[in-house]
Amino acid sequence: MRYISTRSADGASFSASEAILKGLAPDGGLFVPESIPHLGEDFTLTKGAWYAMYQALKPYFAGDELEDDLEEICRSAFSFPVPFHTENGRDTLELYFGPTAAFKDFGARFLAFSMEKLLAKRNEDLTILVATSGDTGGAVASAFHGRSHLSVKVLFPKGRVAKRQRMQLTGWDGNVSSYEVEGSFDDCQRMVKEAFMDPSLHGLSSANSINLGRLLPQMAYYVYASSVYKLRYGLDPVIIVPTGNAGNATGAYWAKAMGAPIGRIVLAANANKPITDYLETGKYEPRPSVQTLANAMDVGAPSNIERLFHMFPDDASFRENVSAWSVSDEDIRRTIKEVYDESGYVICPHTACGERVRRDHCCDEPSIVVSTAHPAKFSDIVEPLIGREIAIPENLYRIMHSTPRAKEIPADYHQLW
Ligand SMILES: *Cc1c(COP(=O)(O)O)cnc(C)c1O
Repeated sequence: MRYISTRSADGASFSASEAILKGLAPDGGLFVPESIPHLGEDFTLTKGAWYAMYQALKPYFAGDELEDDLEEICRSAFSFPVPFHTENGRDTLELYFGPTAAFKDFGARFLAFSMEKLLAKRNEDLTILVATSGDTGGAVASAFHGRSHLSVKVLFPKGRVAKRQRMQLTGWDGNVSSYEVEGSFDDCQRMVKEAFMDPSLHGLSSANSINLGRLLPQMAYYVYASSVYKLRYGLDPVIIVPTGNAGNATGAYWAKAMGAPIGRIVLAANANKPITDYLETGKYEPRPSVQTLANAMDVGAPSNIERLFHMFPDDASFRENVSAWSVSDEDIRRTIKEVYDESGYVICPHTACGERVRRDHCCDEPSIVVSTAHPAKFSDIVEPLIGREIAIPENLYRIMHSTPRAKEIPADYHQLW
């Protein structure tokens, strides 16, 4: 199995492990499989979620140096449940039982365990630099904490992340260090870029959401979930994915292309809607992001759009395969309340975008809404709407009660060493 760049015309190809260690292709494009493999005939659900995900991932590592380690990596990385919640005939896939209570745990953990194996084979060390405005840094810090051959430096803007997010960024010791930067998120990103360009610094890498190692697990849970759905109902569901950078959605497209029983895929965006606009106007125009209640989806220029355009290269095939709807803050609030009033089920603002799209545009089809985060992470938005407190889930509790350790630094990357 080989990987090529979305931009390559020269046919250069890479192994999965090379793609994972490089992050970005040498020409600046994103890694994609040369061709999407088929799900094995012997695919089975009988050994649980992590094993089903392992089987889905296996053909992507055929012939790779991680091939023999893959089963162990999957068992360690996907060590939490992937349940469905069914309410009034509506199914929601809850992807938030990992250590930071959002779906990014799947990708971040798979990447961390894979990198650890690859570095041990090479006897090399890497330092991961992450600039974060919220969720990504927490998932990466948690996933890489305690992994050997790896250390993490998390940079976040002082005073600009939510209190619970700050706990997730700073509650670490050992190989994870947090830096509270006197500046903006853009300053943090600039510092990371400058560090990467400094020739005196070696062994730096990123754990960016465009990394193949973060994307592949998101394919794998769609294979698992759609197969469970098919077994239960005998139907191929529509998968509705709350979307920002479109990494999670790209995973769904790869799963469908592999032969997973998925009817179609629908993207649910917030007020940041470059993909919806493209479908309306035929012109793709990235924009600056606007702030919404579903802040992990505040993306005006989704990085993974390049993978979707590569997969559906002409306008007709893109339209045939991609549907996208935008949901306003007002509709996010209304949906959280509506769902709670109906059944007592509590959803986060991102999931609410998906649920709104299901109710407005897919109500006659069998469907799964993807729940991307636990509502307790967004208690300041959700609690006033439902009129009660949300209990903090066990997975978040540990981090919420650890000692914050962050070093305050000016916006200069030399301060990181
Ligand atoms: C990152 C994130 C999203 C958006 O996922 P993309 O892969 O960027 O489209 C949605 N919801 C939550 C809670 C997230 O953390």
